[in-house]
Amino acid sequence: MTNPFLEPLAANGLPSFDRIELPHYREAFEQGISQQEQEIAAIRDNPGEANFHNTIEALERSGALLRRVGDVFWNLTSSDTNDELQALELEMSATMAAHSSRIYADAALFTRVQAVMDSNVTFMGEQQQLLEETHQRFVRAGAQLADNERQRVSDITERLANLTTQFGQNVLKDTNDFQLVLDQGDDVSGLPEFVLGAAKAEAEQRGQPGKYVFTISRSSITPFLQYADNRELREKMYKAYTNCGVASVDNRPIIQEIVKLRTERADLMGYASHADFMLDDRMAKTPGAVRNLLDQIWEPAQKKVAQEAEDLQALIQEDGGNFNLEAWDWWYYTEKLRKARFDLDEEDVKPYFPLNQVRDGAFNVAKRLYGITFTPCDVPVYHPDVEAYEVNDSDGSKVGLFLFDFFMRPSKRGGAWMSAFREQSALDGHETPVIVNCCNFPKSDPCLLGMDEVRTLFHEFGHGLHGLLSKVTYRSLSGTSVKQDFVELPSQIMEHWAMEPEVLKDYARHHETGETIPVDIVEKLRASDTFNQGFATTEYVAACYLDLAWHEPGGDDAGDIGKFERKAMEDIHKIRTVDPRYWSSYFLHIFSGDHYSAGYYVYIWAEVLDADGYDAFKEKGIFDEATANAFRKHVLEVGGSVEPMEAYQNFRGREPSVEPLLKKRGLA
Ligand SMILES: [Zn+2]
Repeated sequence: MTNPFLEPLAANGLPSFDRIELPHYREAFEQGISQQEQEIAAIRDNPGEANFHNTIEALERSGALLRRVGDVFWNLTSSDTNDELQALELEMSATMAAHSSRIYADAALFTRVQAVMDSNVTFMGEQQQLLEETHQRFVRAGAQLADNERQRVSDITERLANLTTQFGQNVLKDTNDFQLVLDQGDDVSGLPEFVLGAAKAEAEQRGQPGKYVFTISRSSITPFLQYADNRELREKMYKAYTNCGVASVDNRPIIQEIVKLRTERADLMGYASHADFMLDDRMAKTPGAVRNLLDQIWEPAQKKVAQEAEDLQALIQEDGGNFNLEAWDWWYYTEKLRKARFDLDEEDVKPYFPLNQVRDGAFNVAKRLYGITFTPCDVPVYHPDVEAYEVNDSDGSKVGLFLFDFFMRPSKRGGAWMSAFREQSALDGHETPVIVNCCNFPKSDPCLLGMDEVRTLFHEFGHGLHGLLSKVTYRSLSGTSVKQDFVELPSQIMEHWAMEPEVLKDYARHHETGETIPVDIVEKLRASDTFNQGFATTEYVAACYLDLAWHEPGGDDAGDIGKFERKAMEDIHKIRTVDPRYWSSYFLHIFSGDHYSAGYYVYIWAEVLDADGYDAFKEKGIFDEATANAFRKHVLEVGGSVEPMEAYQNFRGREPSVEPLLKKRGLA
């Protein structure tokens, strides 16, 4: 059987999932690497003078086969992996890091890139941006360093790729390993039907029919902590969660090595710290700018969370509990308080949010804003749970393909994300994007979503639109290929529509009766928006500070990791009973890859933008055509081809302000 990766993609860009077999990957990676090496050699050894076309654009074009195999491989190692793929992933992450190091360490190649940079030709718009980004990639890989230093940087990068992959696999292992098994007769008091149903399904999947299995994946542990009356079991689950990465595996030596290597690399590159190095390539530019924003939010959040802790303690006393509030009590008493204050139970809300309707609700928002439509289509996908849609513009032209992969399974890593099987580009004919949204909703029938899950769906869908509506020439500037602290703007702004009464009316209907969600529930949902925001802001911002602590000077000689974490939290006077959203040993964002390191803050940075940006819609009407067109044109379509602050100002007409965010979170 021929290797499908060696053939061109179908016109719609969809990989031939039905024909891909394990050995195809290795063969395609090997051929892809040697093909790109030849392409690179041709660029480097071109006897003609270096110019944009024969150097920058030629580089952009190179590696087509590697992209074809990589786009499938790196997606499936996240969303549908197995032992063989995992083994190959470890090997390929090192191989690919080495390959890319060789390209960026090629002095003769860099000389040509530099020559284009130094030429007197003035490039416009996208070309200028591609030139700068390409040049920057070389510089950040150490192209301007002496040979021995550059070799060291490339060794470090390669070693880091290996360590971060191992870190992520360890977290997956601990997440899958831990299970709390309860029998029919055991204490499940407080746990509602939908939670028990999911736990039953999980037990069945794990070969323990008739029992309940709870895991430390977010969608299992969160409802458990919210509802389980049994305090000891809550504590047990919570501690299992915070022990992730140090239970059956040990991520601590990995963290220490990662941080040391990152520090060394930053030093070689001439930066004061890894944080300085990473931020130089983001919208925020410096660690100081990030701390400045975090501090502005941290102070009001600490006031709010102290009040919330008092409220919960009072509730414990009222409840006849004779103990002090602990970390594993927050969700439980918060849920009780939510019920008392808003008489709103997740369980009362969920029947109005069957998955299919929420999905269609998101599609409808996209249609009303941008005129695009989503039509189910029958194409081969990589897992039977995956749904495929053809996306068309209002004039009928093809926008791309969109895949939804909703359900959790052991072969999928935790969390939710958007990714692409092909990114949009127009360099060699218009290539439409193939976008996927992955979630981890428990598979049940009917699948009813909680509010967080509804927001998650809209959030990832927002990233999806960013990828789908991209309209650039160069793939590397396409869709979500923007600065890290800008990428969450399109996703977070989508979450606002999910909660608008006008939108809820459309999609939030009872799964049995078809009744529209009652107005009083909607009002309560909106009133409860600022509820518990002291806690939510604290756990998130504390994790941002922890991330910075690791990557600013001092992180590299942390010594004992627990001690280091405690010190970092003392420095910001964190309230004892709220932990950072992630402790280091399972902080995937910052240790399972470089991308989000010194960058966990990006969500709140983008939230400043989305809160301020959504105000533009509210001022004119949430489906205002001119505002939607401006957002599509200046933000969604341009990807990374325009500097983020410039793109934002083109849309908004001014710089963003932090006030709408504080107001939205009830911290003003
Ligand atoms: Zn996101």
